[in-house]
Amino acid sequence: MINVFQPSLGEEELDAVRAVFESNWIGKGAKVDEFERTFAAHLGVDAANVMSVTSCTEATFLAMELAGVGPGCEVVVPTVSFVSVANAVAAHGARPVFCDVDPRTLNPTAEHVEAALTSATKAVVVLHYGGHPGDIERIAALCRDRGLLLIEDAANAVASTAGGRACGTFGDFGVWSFDHGKIAVAVDGGILYARDPAHVERGRKLAYFGLEAFSGFSQAERSANRWWDIEVSEFGRRSIMNDVLAAVGCVQLRRLPDFLRRRGEIVARYDRELAGLPGLALPPRLPEGHVGSHYFYWVQMAADIRDDVAADLYRRGIYTTLRYPLLHKVRAYGADVRLPGAERAAATTLCLPLHQGLSDADVTAVVAALTETVTARSAREAS
Ligand SMILES: *Cc1c(COP(=O)(O)O)cnc(C)c1O
Repeated sequence: MINVFQPSLGEEELDAVRAVFESNWIGKGAKVDEFERTFAAHLGVDAANVMSVTSCTEATFLAMELAGVGPGCEVVVPTVSFVSVANAVAAHGARPVFCDVDPRTLNPTAEHVEAALTSATKAVVVLHYGGHPGDIERIAALCRDRGLLLIEDAANAVASTAGGRACGTFGDFGVWSFDHGKIAVAVDGGILYARDPAHVERGRKLAYFGLEAFSGFSQAERSANRWWDIEVSEFGRRSIMNDVLAAVGCVQLRRLPDFLRRRGEIVARYDRELAGLPGLALPPRLPEGHVGSHYFYWVQMAADIRDDVAADLYRRGIYTTLRYPLLHKVRAYGADVRLPGAERAAATTLCLPLHQGLSDADVTAVVAALTETVTARSAREAS
């Protein structure tokens, strides 16, 4: 089976894990620090603006908490988003208000976001679909003008930039994932960026029991005190990363440029070899000044053949998928809207296999199978 997503892990990661085992320090330590500092440098921000946690979902929950999202608030969320975002909004007692997206890019424009704003809107969340930055510059400007917080779910956009600026750093908060399905993995892990380093400082406490590192004591008391004494300033949880996973993450960040280069080659082959196939639309080109991460390669076709094409490919050993099922259709969120751009996209889009482990022969097989099935089905529809 050719997987749609797949991590690339090997000897280098095993060596890094072995070194952590041998150090006898497997908890949060030097490797977590290195992972955070390396990722901050990759983003082009100060290390004080970045912290790691156990997952991107946890980073998103933390962002909502630090942003003060709560009962009575509305948070605009593109309906093409991951459930983690809507859950984070709803779990804090706020209401996710779903906005439409462009049917070709699957990203919202500033107009889509604006149409969902009300006097109760507190924050706007955006995703960079498939790693394409989308309308992030205009959405950031809109949020600034309206005094709204901007939270970027940059889990698709580990290396995406717009106008030279890293996606995830346009707003007040940004979150990234290093789970099993991402380009660079830490087995599991998440990063939270906050524009205000005070949020990171508070976030670190919330992610570790709300422990106040002896600050409950005066200097005199501290020297007289036993080092195991504690003070709690907030009722926090425990969602810190550890050195075993961070060691894997550090190796993966080092390998990221190679991963991106290989993905770029695969994307170029799909672009070239699928171009002009009747009945098939390829991902829109990135606008000038935007750099993507090659996270998804999505093709679009008539709604009445999409599911059959996916089933055909599956029978031939090629796994495809749709990212992301529409959140306004998820009953638990209680939305009652029609979002025609997103509904069209959800009916016509299919994500093809895209990962750095694909061989040239794999890509050839995907192109051949897709060409055959789309040609046959489009011809049948036309006759
Ligand atoms: C993977 C992903 C998440 C969740 O990440 P975890 O680290 O598994 O919590 C959230 N949002 C998007 C867009 C993702 O792709």
